[in-house]
Amino acid sequence: MHEDWVPVQIPENLDEMLMAWSDSPEESVGFCLLCGHSIRTESNLIAGTSTHNCEAGRALEAKINAQIQGRIETDDSATD
Ligand SMILES: [Zn+2]
Repeated sequence: MHEDWVPVQIPENLDEMLMAWSDSPEESVGFCLLCGHSIRTESNLIAGTSTHNCEAGRALEAKINAQIQGRIETDDSATD
């Protein structure tokens, strides 16, 4: 495991999870690979993203934002 690797991991039982989701009669807008739950409505997403607002999703967004911030700072210093 690399510390700076964004933790998008495909679950071993992804097929089962997707089958369970597609078989579900419940309305949902998506499926969270991070926690394995269906995303019921857009209000369950982190604002401005398509990431589920769950503990793992928030951790992923924080990691992505930190990387974007780092990239912007690097670009700024490179232009001058
Ligand atoms: Zn989730």
